[in-house]
Amino acid sequence: MQFEIITIFPGFFAGIFEHGIVRRAQAEGLVSIALHDLRAFTHDRHRTVDDRPFGGGEGMVLKPEPLAEALESLAILPLAKRQDEQADSRPYVLLMSAQGQPFTQAVAREISKRQRVVLICGRYEGVDERINELYCDMEVSIGDYVLSGGELAAAVVVDTVMRLIPGVLGNVASGEFESFGVGDAEIDADVEGVPRSQHGAGGLLDYPHYTRPAEFAGVKAPEVLLNGDHQQIRRWRREQQLKKTLRNRPDLLERAALSEYDRRMLEGMRREGGEK
Ligand code: SAH
Repeated sequence: MQFEIITIFPGFFAGIFEHGIVRRAQAEGLVSIALHDLRAFTHDRHRTVDDRPFGGGEGMVLKPEPLAEALESLAILPLAKRQDEQADSRPYVLLMSAQGQPFTQAVAREISKRQRVVLICGRYEGVDERINELYCDMEVSIGDYVLSGGELAAAVVVDTVMRLIPGVLGNVASGEFESFGVGDAEIDADVEGVPRSQHGAGGLLDYPHYTRPAEFAGVKAPEVLLNGDHQQIRRWRREQQLKKTLRNRPDLLERAALSEYDRRMLEGMRREGGEK
């Protein structure tokens, strides 16, 4: 998979993609990340990328011409002309924007099916809206807060999408059995054997993880995890997922795939109240 990032600060990314899984995925040729300096597509002495907003108001706006030129240099046609390209190799253009659709694990899974993804990083007050209109498949927001630029958002998107590409994670199932994992019904997993990370997340948060030592700073790891009874471990983990989701993200419960057993557990937890 190929990521192309258009930014006025290519240096911002120095180091950010050089660690862990992201570095390895590039070294193994599963992923490539190219940085494109927007200023290279200006033609004036000052390499101007911004201009004052029409209609007044504070701040500056990224001008459309250098962005359009940068996109065309990557052979990215306007949306209207892109329809003719082959669906599987059609580039997918994302505009990093606080006004965008929420970037979720589900969106990341969709993006991970693409071969070529272009990310446009805004700055100042944002990007001239015609770039969005003419070239972008999706406006993406990484959360309900305002960053000073799209670079951090692009790094978040690349990191999240990349680890969902087949072969990037050592264990394919890791991407399914974790917070915001795919629903139980979509998981082709046996329920026997060692309970793996979050057996069928079903839209819940992951359960807490423990490793050695069995006792740390006077706090013991839960006994149930040490006794090797897979059935009990699985039940405990499910309860912990429900507990954590109820405490930290009750909104997720509305969409989660819950069994009758889960619902009874939750009822009990709600009755007990918000103890930690
Ligand atoms: N005036 C804009 C904010 C501009 S912030 C507004 O109020 O919506 C400058 C740039 O940072 C944006 O163009 C965008 O590329 C990036 N950015 C800021 N917050 C973001 C977020 N939550 N998600 C993704 N990109 C964001």
